[in-house]
Amino acid sequence: MAETGAVRVRFCPSPTGNPHVGMVRTALFNWAYARHTGGTFVFRIEDTDSARDSEESYQALLGALRWLGLNWDEGPEVGGPYGPYRQSERLDVYADVASRLIDGGQAYRCYCSQEELEERRERARQEGRTPGYDGACRDLSAAQARGFESAGREPVIRFRMPDRDFTWDDLVRGPITFAKEHVPDYVLVRANGEPLYTLVNPVDDALMRITHVLRGEDLLSSTPRQIALYEALHAIGVSDGTTPRFGHLPYVMGEGNRKLSKRDPESSLQMYRDEGYLPEALLNYLALLGWSMGDDEEFFGIAAMAAAFTLDRVSPNPARFDLKKCRAINGDWIRALPVGQITERIIPFLVDAHVIADPPTQEQREVLAQAVPLVQERMETLTQAVGMLAFLLVPQERFALDPADADAVLVPESIPSLSAAIESLSALDDWTTETIQDALRAALIDGLGLKPKVAYAPVRVAITGRRVSPPLFESMAILGRAICIARLEAASRR
Ligand code: GLU
Ligand code: ZN
Repeated sequence: MAETGAVRVRFCPSPTGNPHVGMVRTALFNWAYARHTGGTFVFRIEDTDSARDSEESYQALLGALRWLGLNWDEGPEVGGPYGPYRQSERLDVYADVASRLIDGGQAYRCYCSQEELEERRERARQEGRTPGYDGACRDLSAAQARGFESAGREPVIRFRMPDRDFTWDDLVRGPITFAKEHVPDYVLVRANGEPLYTLVNPVDDALMRITHVLRGEDLLSSTPRQIALYEALHAIGVSDGTTPRFGHLPYVMGEGNRKLSKRDPESSLQMYRDEGYLPEALLNYLALLGWSMGDDEEFFGIAAMAAAFTLDRVSPNPARFDLKKCRAINGDWIRALPVGQITERIIPFLVDAHVIADPPTQEQREVLAQAVPLVQERMETLTQAVGMLAFLLVPQERFALDPADADAVLVPESIPSLSAAIESLSALDDWTTETIQDALRAALIDGLGLKPKVAYAPVRVAITGRRVSPPLFESMAILGRAICIARLEAASRR
């Protein structure tokens, strides 16, 4: 534990490609730990790889955390005492640290070419030794270095690993040891001067006073190197002398028992936004990937998660990503939120589908106020609202029957039902759910002697356009008599 007591965690993605759920899980766990401990959640952008990083992806990352409501205490757009928080704006810091590491002897210039390295690695493999940098340039004399320089060789900067094994007490997995032969000297700065993740990540963790590093298990093998670099940073006075504690979050497995990959469609955060997942629901589901609330509670908001978030309930075992379960939790959230909130969240989807105006008209708002309660119980994603509600909202000239449902149900035999419905509904004094239901029952079930299922199907398709719809009588009450009669007549003329 850090001596200072105050927890500082970080989420530090690289802005390459689109935000994915693995990233979000890491961000969430760090956020929850910061909130649980009253600590600080630092958001840092690791954009030192100019070939792969993009502004678009940077914006997408900010947009993702904002959409999710994972607010950061320090970072882009927010600032903070250890900024800037985009590594591309900190290159002078890394250059300075690298040269101090060389001066202190913790790093050195390595002139080996790729071909030489590969050749020696191959030889090591053949001789049954662990392949890895063999230390050839560790102790070059000044004359040797000058010789390489005058031959036009441009050096990388390599870290000199201490000659010992590395052990740490992982917050999730307990004690872990890497034997020294598995952690050879590694490159900190490319020959073209570009600093690598291996340098910039621990340097910034040190300078930003990070106390706990919670990150994916895929980064486990970089931890011994980073701990060693930390010690070097203490020695040259870059850090305050604390090495953060590390906790490696379990893998997330996808279909077929392999790791969920960035390329799997269910990885893409955008997919969830487009399909109408609630951020609350997605976070709720991701919280379950490697952590548990206790009492088997599986439905909770992130505030409750943060209140309960201790690291002893983070599991080292791989978590399985289950889209069906994620979807079911989304349905639970849709049912749990007040109808007014769900309405507001549905509106953008209806606007995008051109079902309602942007902003919605007063009339459309009134329809929504009556209609959303009819479908809230039945939705698993917000996009489903478009298909469920369009028939209540589109102008009559844009109302269309589902062709397959119409062909199946609006057959010649359905004409008597439709005609009886038109007749009885035209005679109604009051137009309410109850009077509509009574009138149709009297006309179709008592009058024509039909079974309820058979009786109402043509009316349902005529009015809603589909065989499966929100409750029929309520829908008819919302639509009003004129539209209902017009749709029944259109259906009987088909
Ligand atoms: N930028 C690194 C990544 O995206 C951060 C890894 C870490 O958390 O140390 O993988
Ligand atoms: Zn070398």
